[in-house]
Formats: sequence, structure tokens, C-alpha cells
Amino acid sequence: MTMTNQTADRFKPFGTTIFAEMSRLAAGHNAVNLSQGFPDFDGPAFVKQAAIDAINQGHNQYARSPGEPVLVEQLATRFETRTGIGVDPLAQITVTSGCTEAIAATLLGIINPGDEVILFEPYYDSYRACIAMAQGTPRFVSMKPTAGRFTFDIDDLKAACTNRTKAILVNTPHNPTGTMFTREELTQIADLCKQHNTIAISDEVYEDLIFDRQHISIASLPGMSGRTITLSSLGKSFSLTGWKVGWAIASPELTNAIRSSHQFLTYATATPFQHAAAVALSEGDEYIGKLKSRYSTARDMLAGELDALGFGVIIPEGTYFILAEHSAISSKLGVDNDIDLALKLTADFGVTTIPPSVFCETKDLCANYLRFAFCKEEATLVEAIRRLQKLND
Ligand code: GLN
Repeated sequence: MTMTNQTADRFKPFGTTIFAEMSRLAAGHNAVNLSQGFPDFDGPAFVKQAAIDAINQGHNQYARSPGEPVLVEQLATRFETRTGIGVDPLAQITVTSGCTEAIAATLLGIINPGDEVILFEPYYDSYRACIAMAQGTPRFVSMKPTAGRFTFDIDDLKAACTNRTKAILVNTPHNPTGTMFTREELTQIADLCKQHNTIAISDEVYEDLIFDRQHISIASLPGMSGRTITLSSLGKSFSLTGWKVGWAIASPELTNAIRSSHQFLTYATATPFQHAAAVALSEGDEYIGKLKSRYSTARDMLAGELDALGFGVIIPEGTYFILAEHSAISSKLGVDNDIDLALKLTADFGVTTIPPSVFCETKDLCANYLRFAFCKEEATLVEAIRRLQKLND
């Protein structure tokens, strides 16, 4: 039998995720990879040692499905310190294989066919694929550059809310724009959640990578703790993206929904890494402080250099990404969109970025931008800039 395309229809629109695609392309061209967001330096020694110790101590069988007690207790403490909300660690926290599984478990756990989920575009690509897996319907609210940062118009958000709206998916700090929602913006979203009896799903994986603003969890706003699912992970804060330890924090009722799918997706997450994650969270403040200042320096350096090259840089308030407007560069190179420019910069200049239009339903919303990751060694960033200087030859 000849095998034609065997991919299920629901995945066909999504192809291969842009992160795998661009990292593969970068490797093929020996390009400096500023596309997929992962550090090119290692995580902290004390956390790595804690994982080795956990393995040697025999923490090697299945973990408790919703998460090892030692980790969920740390997470409850951390969440209360950050948001003021006390949670029952055993009934309200679910440890997942990275935040990516937390997103999938959440959406599969709460959505019925036809339920609508509001996404702010540009949106992280797995949100949309998971809504499709759950047979939900995405609705889009555009974030546009306004006074130097990307944000939404409240009237657009109001217009997107219907009686089918099951959830509004918030991501702050926001990938790829670097926007951190203000208290005022989050209050507008929260008011609509309450008015429409809707759940807020809040992806906060970049919560520690912040520069100018205070990070605010929408769960901490009045009337929101019972209707918010807060998602985060270890990877970005501890430069250990390959460990894939994430979590979801929510009311017991919402947690039951998340666990109904989590138990069949992965059942549990790697046991020794959960033990090491508990150590990271209890002893990690100093590391996170240093990482923040390292990223702040890298952000300023890359932003300044991209600006000098002729990009229109949006200075990120958080995350380790810079979105940069490229029309001056692309017109010089004779291309007219982000995908063609990203391919050309990889092939001809040896620098790989992410074309953010792949995160948009409204295709021209981000077609004039490229996303640069700055979670890299200084030497890596310097080499990328050196290569891009050929633009001005
Ligand atoms: N979150 C990372 C990024 O935006 C990628 C994660 C992944 O590759 N799945 O680059």
C-alpha cells in the first residue's frame, strides 16, 4: 500500500513548528541561531547537582501523577509569595512536562467542541494547535504597536467575547512582542472574564525575565483566583529548557479538569528533575537575580546594535526576545516579508531569526518584523552582529 500523507486533518494546517524548522535551517547553514528561544549556556551547577543526587538517591520511578509533594509544596509557597494567594499544594497544582504540556492539558481538559478561546495575536504557536486538538474555535485579538509597545484595543477584545467564550488566553510577559501587561490592561481582561463567566488561562513562563515593569499575575486581581489557570515553568528562569518541568495552578475544580487530560497525556513528569526543580525554586533567587541582569545587558546591547543596523527595535519589557521592524533592511535586500527575509538572512548572512507572521491570523500584522532571541552568550550576539554588518557594506 502506498502511504499518502497520514497526518490527521486537524494537524495539517500547522505543518512543522517554526522553532524546529528555523533551528534545523540554522544548523544546515552554520548560521548563528537567534531563532528558537533557548540559552546557549548551561544552567546552574547546584540545580544540576540536585538532579544527579536525586537519581543517585533512587528517585527514579513514576512520580505522583500531579507532581512530587516536595515540588508542589515549593510551588505553593512561591505562588503565595508572588501573588498573595494561598493554594492547597496537593489539590491545586499539577506538574507537567514543560509549560507546553500544561497548555495542552488545560485546553484539552476544559474545552468542549465549539467552545471559543480568545488568543492575542501574535500568539505562541502551540496555543492554536491545542485548541484544534480540543475541537475548540480560536478567536483573535490583534496586538499592535502603540507608543513603542505592542498592545490590544479593549474594544476589539470586547467584540471577540461571545456566549461561547470559554477562556481568554493571556501570555505575560508576551512572546514574541516582549510586552508585559499592565495592571490596567489585566483589569480590563479580568472584567470581561467576570462579565462573561470566562476562564483566564495565563501563561507566565517569562515571569522572571523582566526588565522595567513589575510582573502581575491576573490570578491576583480581585475575583480572579477562582477562575484563573496560571501556567509557568522552570526552563526560562533557570536556563534549563530541556528539563521540561512546568506546572498549572488553579482552583480544585479547574485542576480536576486539567488532571483529567494530564493523566493520559504523560501521566507524570520525570521524577529526578522534579526533585531538582524543588531545590532550584527554594535556593534560586540569587541565580535569577544574576540572570536578569545578564539578560538586561544582552537586551540593551542587541537592541542598540540592531538599531544601528537600521532595524526599528521594540524594546521588550520582558522575555528574552526582541521584535524588530525590518522594512529598511528588507527593501534594501529586495524582499517584502518576514519569512523571505528570515530565509535570506540565514542563507546569505548566516544569522537565523523567527518570522513572527507565523504567529498571526492577520498575516500582515507582523510581516514587517523579525524576532531575535538574546538568551545567548555575549560572543554569540557579537558574532551575529558582525555578520549582519554586511548589510551596510
Ligand atoms: N518558547 C520557545 C520560543 O519561543 C520555543 C519552544 C519550543 O521550541 N517548543 O522560541
